[in-house]
Amino acid sequence: MTEIIADFRSDTVTRPSAPMLQAMLAAELGDDVYGDDPTVNHLEGWIAASAGKEAALLCPSGTQSNLVALMAHCQRGDEYIVGQEAHTYKYEAGGGAVLGSIQPQPIEFEADSTLDLDKVKAKLKAKDSHFARSRLLCLENTRGGDVLPLDYHARAANFCAEHGLALHLDGARLFNAIQKQDVALADITQHYDSVSLCISKGLGAPAGSLLVGSQALIDDARRWRKMLGGGMRQAGLFAAACQYALEHNVDGLLLDHDHAQRLAQGLAVVPGIRCDPAAVQTNMVFIGIEDPAQSAPLTAYLAAQGIVVSGGGRTIRLVTHLDIDPAGVDRTIEACAAFFA
Ligand SMILES: *Cc1c(COP(=O)(O)O)cnc(C)c1O
Repeated sequence: MTEIIADFRSDTVTRPSAPMLQAMLAAELGDDVYGDDPTVNHLEGWIAASAGKEAALLCPSGTQSNLVALMAHCQRGDEYIVGQEAHTYKYEAGGGAVLGSIQPQPIEFEADSTLDLDKVKAKLKAKDSHFARSRLLCLENTRGGDVLPLDYHARAANFCAEHGLALHLDGARLFNAIQKQDVALADITQHYDSVSLCISKGLGAPAGSLLVGSQALIDDARRWRKMLGGGMRQAGLFAAACQYALEHNVDGLLLDHDHAQRLAQGLAVVPGIRCDPAAVQTNMVFIGIEDPAQSAPLTAYLAAQGIVVSGGGRTIRLVTHLDIDPAGVDRTIEACAAFFA
């Protein structure tokens, strides 16, 4: 098998580092469904405090932490408003509708990855027995690598307060956003009723997503997590990895952003590839293949050299993370240039 030198499919592909594995081995464990796991309890308290919230809940995945949040905010027959390409709507197998009986109302994202609040307003349903009850607005940050503008959070929160909506943030990559904007976690989370955070992406833990919110919301979410099969027993093993990631790997996200920028700048000058480095805000690079027929052969050519990318379509997404280094970036640029030469 070809040795893999750079895997750009996603920032989820990171392997736990040796010190992270050490932290997992050293973790004090208990049964978290009984509330007895000290490592989980410490992590949940720690992240709640960092986010300025009353409580937190460790879930195995971001899909589950988003779903339990939707189910805690919305009753059967309620509606949540969400981006057309949003993860909670498009990439979570329709869980809100299937398991929560919550109607999604998708609307298109704007170019800056916000949802236009006037367009949201136009979709809100009047109180009338014909309609689902508009209950929740769900945003995403980062979204396709884009960071939401800092002033947008308060505007969205004020809008929701005015219209009796709750506000959830899918913050799977929120740490990329706070590093990019050089703000504290609470500077953003303060505007939201609930926020989900993935620790298994750029931060490098093998599993784990944290939902933060009020005590009442988290109590509800905990019941839904149990129903969904997410009550884990000696979950401190994962909590220790997440704690390690949060204490050691947040600053490193800026390196991932540098690597993405280096990659974008290198690929921008390769003939046959279209790439705009100015559009790269965090750790995602999107490249267009001018001749779509070259896309699958390019992917195969890279794979033969241990460079893994997903796609084969007209656009290829490359994601940088802890296990991508500058040498891997440079090899990728060289390989692409050689392919098109
Ligand atoms: C990855 C991701 C999630 C959660 O995904 P899991 O694989 O279930 O952890 C949620 N939202 C966004 C935007 C994501 O990228």
